[in-house]
Amino acid sequence: MNLNDARKSISEHVKDLIDQCPHCGAKSHIEAQWNECHKYRNGDAEFYVIFRCRPCRKLILKTLYFEQNRYSQQENLTMRGWKDTFPMILDEHLGPDEKEHVPTEVLEDYEEALRCKSVGADKASCAMFRRALQSALVLLGAKAKENLISQIDSLYSLPADIRDWSHQIRIFGNWGAHPDQDQLKNVDRDDVLEVHDFFSKFLVYTFIMPAKVRASRERREARTQPENDSGSEA
Ligand SMILES: [Zn+2]
Repeated sequence: MNLNDARKSISEHVKDLIDQCPHCGAKSHIEAQWNECHKYRNGDAEFYVIFRCRPCRKLILKTLYFEQNRYSQQENLTMRGWKDTFPMILDEHLGPDEKEHVPTEVLEDYEEALRCKSVGADKASCAMFRRALQSALVLLGAKAKENLISQIDSLYSLPADIRDWSHQIRIFGNWGAHPDQDQLKNVDRDDVLEVHDFFSKFLVYTFIMPAKVRASRERREARTQPENDSGSEA
């Protein structure tokens, strides 16, 4: 197809998608609003399509890539698929609603770890995940001077599966109570992915789930309160 055909097919077929929204974090209905294209010197074309998320109303830019047939003298494009999304989705594990329940000092380090991860800064990402994890552990009552595995083991409220998992994570074994024991020079991409996966689930068990249970109990209690009590202070 030529560029005009590509444009026409996008206008006709790319109207509504179900995709993960980088703003609200949910798989949502997103609606195409507008598009424009950039043609590369080698003949490839990239369409920039603006969508609006139906639930949260925020805008998302996605690019759709078309490749030029290298053996053809004329414009001869084949659709290769979606390429980039802006803003980037940094956290595929936790949504914004869930993060509201995480203490600020833990969350700030966690989000910095995610930004480092998104640009491939693996050592910096692991260092920030470690910092976030250790401050979360201390907030939950672990002793500040112990190594990471002992800190996790000391939290009896954690499910046994999470404690067992922490024993399997390679770099956790090297993480003492001091940053100079961090062994970061041996970090690779798999370590970052695993630490992120572990820590996001750890946050669910330690901060997010208890807060949700509390909120649900409060809602239930509010519903069962006699009506003439509804004006009184909680
Ligand atoms: Zn949204």
